[in-house]
Amino acid sequence: MPTPIRHLVIAGGGAAGWMTAAMLSKLFPHHLQITLVESEEIGIVGVGEATIPPILLFNQALGIKEADFIQSTKGTFKLGIQFENWGQQGDKYMHAFGDIGKDLGLTSFHHFWLRAQQQGFTDSYWDYSPCYQAASRNKFAPLHQLPGTPFKQLSYAYHFDASLYAATLRRLSEQQGVKRIEGKIASVTQDQTSGDIQTLVMENGHVIQGDLFIDCSGFRALLAEQTLKTGYEDWSRWLPCNRALAVPSANRSAAVPYTRAIAHQAGWQWRIPLQHRTGNGVVYCSDFMDDESAQQHLLSNLEGDALAEPRPIRFTTGRRKMQWHKNCISLGLASGFLEPLESTSLHLIQSGIIRLAKLFPATTDYASQRDQYNRQSVTEFEQIRDFIILHYHQTQRDDSEFWRYCRTMSVPDSLTQKMELFRQSAVVQREQDDLFSEVAWQQVMLGQNLIPQQHHPLANQVPSEKLQQFMQDLKLIVTDIVDKLPSHQHSIEQLLVQRR
Ligand SMILES: Cc1cc2nc3c(=O)[nH]c(=O)nc-3n(C[C@H](O)[C@H](O)[C@H](O)COP(=O)(O)OP(=O)(O)OC[C@H]3O[C@@H](n4cnc5c(N)ncnc54)[C@H](O)[C@@H]3O)c2cc1C
Repeated sequence: MPTPIRHLVIAGGGAAGWMTAAMLSKLFPHHLQITLVESEEIGIVGVGEATIPPILLFNQALGIKEADFIQSTKGTFKLGIQFENWGQQGDKYMHAFGDIGKDLGLTSFHHFWLRAQQQGFTDSYWDYSPCYQAASRNKFAPLHQLPGTPFKQLSYAYHFDASLYAATLRRLSEQQGVKRIEGKIASVTQDQTSGDIQTLVMENGHVIQGDLFIDCSGFRALLAEQTLKTGYEDWSRWLPCNRALAVPSANRSAAVPYTRAIAHQAGWQWRIPLQHRTGNGVVYCSDFMDDESAQQHLLSNLEGDALAEPRPIRFTTGRRKMQWHKNCISLGLASGFLEPLESTSLHLIQSGIIRLAKLFPATTDYASQRDQYNRQSVTEFEQIRDFIILHYHQTQRDDSEFWRYCRTMSVPDSLTQKMELFRQSAVVQREQDDLFSEVAWQQVMLGQNLIPQQHHPLANQVPSEKLQQFMQDLKLIVTDIVDKLPSHQHSIEQLLVQRR
């Protein structure tokens, strides 16, 4: 007989655990009793400092004010990710958030830009991106509308200290009634017939019973893998990086409003500016680079002094075969791992929570909700996977074994089709629910020198002189928007002053 779902147990209190606790306790205040178990001794992974724009919606839904958030997490603003040395060494482009240029009718702006290029126009595609132009001039303001321009807003996300974010969400969750239990989970018991998880048994003998369990225990996947043996789909043949070293460094200059992803001979290095320090890390593939060389590379490419010893992290790119298996949903690192190149992990947690909330079962009779949850999760993971593979595969680098491997490896058909379509026609085939917009795909493809053979014929319908005028006017609008913006630093200070 189906029984009501009343008690939710979350195993783990990193960003995944506390994001889940905060949102579900907000959405189901009277319906659910929520218990979260975490171990200070085990701690959290503590990286995960760069995000993408939907994080704003998550914070808004939780009622977190931007000024409070920026203050409590030592956050900064982010207008995009600058990719350096990806197409060829010395190349630089940005995946800037928001729109670029202005579409006309059915025809996307980049077709007009491509046609203008054929006519000798030399302006870069990014001259028409307010976010790129603002980022490159170190300017920013939280503008949610840009009236009198073809642009909707200055789209942005945040950089922040992951541990401080988890602490903020913990305070909020506890205020909303979430019960926190400190200590280590020693074992997990299962129903002998169904195999469902019944209880978590703590090291001190305390037993926690639940109806539904969320595995947020990080790479350990204590419930989903160690207990339920859900299985893992390994994607390392396409995304071979499997190690990282993370280290904070002192700030040397004002924080820039963008993440940097700088490719090296066997992976890449991130640089994430916060108010009080810079987050750095090197991501590499152990088949092509040893740990010592990775550490040397990391430390010799810091802007300021290292503030700690580099911390090693190992991972295998892929996804848990079922995100919802029996009565357990895995979120965060327990659900799979896509490397942080496009800052998507926290977003996957966010969208997993929203998906779960929408499909939340009233009773234990939830096979259909579970199947739907799993179908949507697979699509989402695979779409992001393809986008990340594109960065590695669409390279002309020939200076190391690693890049030769990435350039020549076979990639999923879904990505091959996308790249071929763009190469031939400049059209981006994007599914409706793809996290990344057409403009995002265009930027990475163009930025890494995947130049289309032709543009859409509709772009030829505008007479040449009109096209020139259109491009010039748009560029002036972008310049005008950016000229009026204050510096990034000024905007952070203004927000913090408002709060006092
Ligand atoms: C190198 C690297 C860089 C990253 N960069 C980004 C980024 O820029 N942007 C982004 O969005 N994401 C990034 N991520 C991903 C991001 O860090 C994670 O998605 C996020 O921090 C969530 O982690 P988590 O909560 O799943 O796991 P964790 O932070 O590891 O938390 C696991 C929790 O489980 C608890 N636990 C485990 N075992 C037990 C036990 N036996 N008993 C009790 N408690 C237990 C731990 O105490 C902890 O509270 C990055 C990840 C890595 C590895």
